[in-house]
Amino acid sequence: MTTTTETFESHSPADGRVIGTYPMMDADEVREVVDRARIASLWWADLGFDERRRRLLRFKGLLARRSRELAELVHAENGKPTDDALLEIILSVEHVNWAALNAEKVLRRRRVKPGLLTINHDARVEYQPLGVVGVIGPWNYPVFTPIGSIAYALAAGNTVVFKPSEYTPAIGQWLIDAIHEVVPEQPVAQLVTGKGATGAALCESGVDKISFTGSTPTGKKVMAACAASLTPVLLECGGKDAVLVDRDADLDKAADAATFGAFSNAGQTCVGVERVYVHQEVYDEFLTLVAEKARALTPGHGPDSSYGPMTMPSQIEVVREHVRDALARGGQAVVGGPESVGEGVVEPIVLAHVPEDSLAVMEETFGPTLVVNPVRDMDEAVDRANAADFGLAASVFTRSRATMERVASRLRVGMVSMNSWVMYAGVSALPWGGVGQSGFGRIHGPDGLREFARSKSTVRERFAIPLTLTSFARHPNTTEIVRRVTSVMHGHGR
Ligand code: NDP
Repeated sequence: MTTTTETFESHSPADGRVIGTYPMMDADEVREVVDRARIASLWWADLGFDERRRRLLRFKGLLARRSRELAELVHAENGKPTDDALLEIILSVEHVNWAALNAEKVLRRRRVKPGLLTINHDARVEYQPLGVVGVIGPWNYPVFTPIGSIAYALAAGNTVVFKPSEYTPAIGQWLIDAIHEVVPEQPVAQLVTGKGATGAALCESGVDKISFTGSTPTGKKVMAACAASLTPVLLECGGKDAVLVDRDADLDKAADAATFGAFSNAGQTCVGVERVYVHQEVYDEFLTLVAEKARALTPGHGPDSSYGPMTMPSQIEVVREHVRDALARGGQAVVGGPESVGEGVVEPIVLAHVPEDSLAVMEETFGPTLVVNPVRDMDEAVDRANAADFGLAASVFTRSRATMERVASRLRVGMVSMNSWVMYAGVSALPWGGVGQSGFGRIHGPDGLREFARSKSTVRERFAIPLTLTSFARHPNTTEIVRRVTSVMHGHGR
């Protein structure tokens, strides 16, 4: 095996101490890992659903038992408070469990009804593993996000090569080591480490699918790289999620959800709340509630802070630019302002009456800022929410079931939480993914299992019938008979 001598370090965003040193893997090394994964994929696929389920349930058990150890590592390497880390680990445990228990039910070979013309055939569909799945992950939810691909890909019978973010390789290594503990025989899940070039090499390594989670600009590069070899891609990209608050909503509950959705994880959440559209009649009251809750937050470096420092230093400048732009265009700073953007920790910022064409409304800020704007009614709220190019998720708060359903169905997003924030993430059976610039494809649930499988259709003739259509020896009357039958059966449709 070729080995690189170049390495890189991951650091704690809190105090800069080194968490780990990892090889900067080049294209040859990535390809070698993928080659090993391909050999292992034959073994893993042959194990069958039962044995794979047993292994994945053991992995789930290990994750649950050692969640505190992993949470401390997440706190150290990513910077988020330990309790927030635990939350994403608990959700991940649920997903591993669901994928393990449901893979066979969703993917097993099953019979489908043949039509009248093929009544003499037995028709079946099965979902076979793709082979090797390349998973490229971000740093913001370094457990929950990759597990949504890794667990489902493994459950569907694939092996996995995982490229974690350069900011969180130790967490990636922990996950891969844990899988190795429950599957010691073959490298069914392996790590490749490095920076963007290593991710690009994985796209060109001959894997059977890339499951990418990260920013929209990188997602486009991944798709372009995969196009050359027609490698299929699943893209989970950025968001600009909105909360819509109607005049009859429980305002305290809505303000609490919007505040947590905006500021937890320092706003570095793909489905984080970045905009709130509030009915004008309750706008002032809502803004006061949000401002009170935001002022009460205590961000910092400690394990019990409300939220931690920015994980990626370059994002701090983006936050600063969005706040400055919003204020320059006439927006008002209700809590904090440009001075809240520190070197590591960014204090909470609430902006009001921000013009809809500002950066803080149109582009992903990915920091602890929240725009709160008034609207005439929920129709205007939906129009404004849908005006962003992103379409990941949204929340709606109202006491009217009819309004809730109408608004939810009109929002151009992949996921909607009604009278809550992000609760779709906790329902393992629900697919996760976005539309527009937020990407395409789905992880989680049955759709998430099928993303990592290819359907195969088979038909078997059970008995011969005189009406053979697919033969040069077909009787001249055959087509006419079939035409008449088709006309009787379907000709009445208008
Ligand atoms: P990036 O796009 O910067 O990076 C994502 C991953 O892609 C990293 O592992 C990165 O490696 C790798 N990468 C970088 N360049 C390339 C390349 N040319 N080819 C292949 N891979 C490459 O995103 P972040 O890590 O900054 O994550 C934050 C983003 O992720 C936000 O936009 C957020 O909204 C989004 N996200 C989306 C989610 C969703 O479910 N839709 C969930 C979570 C986050 P390296 O880090 O080493 O550069």
